Amino acid sequence: MADRYLRFTGTAPGRFLTRGLGLPQPAELHRWSPEHPALKGEVLHLTAGKPAPAPAAPPAAVVLDATHVRDVEGLADVHAALHPVVRSVAAGGRIVVLGAPLDPADHHQAAAQQALEGFTRSLGKEIGRGRTVNLVRLTDRAAAESTLRFLLSPKSAYVSGQVIEVGEGSGEGPGEGTVPADLDWDQPLSGRTALVTGAARGIGAAVAETLARDGARVVVLDVPQAEADARRLAERLGGEALALDITAADAGERIAAALPDGLDVLVHNAGITRDRRLVNMPVERWSSVLEVNLASVLRTTDALLSTGTLGEGGRIVATASIAGLAGNAGQTNYGASKAGVVGLVRSLAPRALAEHGVTVNAVAPGFIETKMTAAVPLLIREAGRRMNSLAQGGLPVDVAETTAWLAHPASGAVNGQVVRVCGQSLLGA
Ligand code: NAD
Repeated sequence: MADRYLRFTGTAPGRFLTRGLGLPQPAELHRWSPEHPALKGEVLHLTAGKPAPAPAAPPAAVVLDATHVRDVEGLADVHAALHPVVRSVAAGGRIVVLGAPLDPADHHQAAAQQALEGFTRSLGKEIGRGRTVNLVRLTDRAAAESTLRFLLSPKSAYVSGQVIEVGEGSGEGPGEGTVPADLDWDQPLSGRTALVTGAARGIGAAVAETLARDGARVVVLDVPQAEADARRLAERLGGEALALDITAADAGERIAAALPDGLDVLVHNAGITRDRRLVNMPVERWSSVLEVNLASVLRTTDALLSTGTLGEGGRIVATASIAGLAGNAGQTNYGASKAGVVGLVRSLAPRALAEHGVTVNAVAPGFIETKMTAAVPLLIREAGRRMNSLAQGGLPVDVAETTAWLAHPASGAVNGQVVRVCGQSLLGA
């Protein structure tokens, strides 16, 4: 679905008119492409409380280390570090704040570190020009390499206002056990198999393409009615199609049987909406949404872990939604199912990592331009598109890039996270 307003504001008369009327000014986002694999310009590294080097040119990104900030005076150093440079960050640039986990034994440190969250989200809302601001809480910088590479790249164009926690590497030393020694950063998933549910179209198809770009052999799963599309996509990506309704009671076992050599990446993407206000919602609308979006996700996850199909180094990425975080009128069924996905991720993540070596995370898309959102009535659609810090809808590839980062072999220290891909939606922020 074309965003005509975005195109209009990209023209000189459009800019003049919309600025004069005080209307949203969405900036064109520069996403990853083979021709545009990295941000153009320098990354300026700052540390709160230390003198800042003067940037020679407007930086494409700023990384501010605020991990040691423990009190209100330390927060003044955050202001002092970013205040002079924030204006100079290039359009479409990035600000990444590095924070530390909250210390339960020190409420001054916890207050200061939590303050960074409010700071990050507020700066994200005011910075404009397609620039993003995110906070990474870490203890082990080396274990956060894949995360920092993602946030400092064009791949994260629609991810803003997020707080991402990165744990420690699984090895003895810093970062050890998180970055495989033979990792090819251009083809990180080479030699790995990924299965994407609901991948015949929309976001799932973009996820399949992006994981294939990163070297994975991709299994494109969708309902039998969508088999022709699934097959076409699988052929183009050099993968395979699997015609299967994910709500089948034995779907997990059938996937396991189709993948005797195991699975490395499982992306739960299949999802449906059947909107009605609760007063008008018949039980079928409730149960079909809960079945596809939640029950089948729980069942197949359990089956693929217990059969050992997903094992050491495995990755599960589930698909939530901002409707599951903020709630949405007419979507009690959908909101419940997507909040359920968040509960599944948070509860299972530590156990799946400890017992199976598998990470479990979720993406929570906001307004993404797909057939699902094209069906939304015009005015609500237009509001959904604009009500975020980037004043535009995301594209399926934005969710796909975020999924690819979570599926990355070097993302083993990212676990139990729910990362919104919503341009910092104003809903449920
Ligand atoms: P879509 O309707 O375009 O595609 C969904 C795909 O899932 C279809 O190919 C469909 O055939 C498949 N599917 C449905 N039921 C299935 C089943 N029982 N078994 C196997 N496959 C099944 O949807 P989309 O917009 O690409 O959304 C993908 C995911 O992202 C969904 O989980 C959705 O809830 C979530 N999401 C989307 C948006 C958005 O703005 N589009 C926002 C938040 C979350």
